[in-house]
Amino acid sequence: MKIICIGRNYAEHAKELGNAVPDEPVIFMKPKSALLQSHAPFYYPEFTNELHYECELVLRICKNGKYIQSKFAGNYYNGIAVGIDFTARDIQDELKKKGLPWGKAKAFDNSAAISNFIDITPGLNKKNINFSLKKNGELMQKGNSGDMIFSFDSIIEHISNYFSLNIGDMVFTGTPAGVGECVVGDELECYIENQKLLELEIK
Ligand code: MG
Repeated sequence: MKIICIGRNYAEHAKELGNAVPDEPVIFMKPKSALLQSHAPFYYPEFTNELHYECELVLRICKNGKYIQSKFAGNYYNGIAVGIDFTARDIQDELKKKGLPWGKAKAFDNSAAISNFIDITPGLNKKNINFSLKKNGELMQKGNSGDMIFSFDSIIEHISNYFSLNIGDMVFTGTPAGVGECVVGDELECYIENQKLLELEIK
């Protein structure tokens, strides 16, 4: 199982971090050890002083494939979840300055919190899914899949040109504006529409 993540997929978020809007998807990976299931505690990593949440929709891959055309991409994922791409922003800023890969800032243990998956049904409009994150009960991030620069299907097409997709892989599809810091004691809740699917405390 692998976790593939898309960066800078919402124009407003790219802007808030001072990044250009990309002309093709920005891709990075998290290992299996990064996975944190819903309701498990998240422990603040000792190597960072600036931990950020990034609330994202996550796809569940249900079919093996490579070189998948976007018109067939819908056959390759069958579930959607909400997740948090935890990021050590101070470390990432240092690495970016040096032109180095983001691994230390993005792929650490428990950095991929993922809720249970909702099955994608034919009636679901994949271009109009609302999702959000609350910190200590206050709304911090609000996104809609229709605002993605690269749609689910074009993401699948693009990543499958580089990596085979396998059953059980998961794809973080990028975060909307409103990312921010969290500290020990914060409670994070993530929603798809009005359904709370992920809840965790920073310990
Ligand atoms: Mg992200």
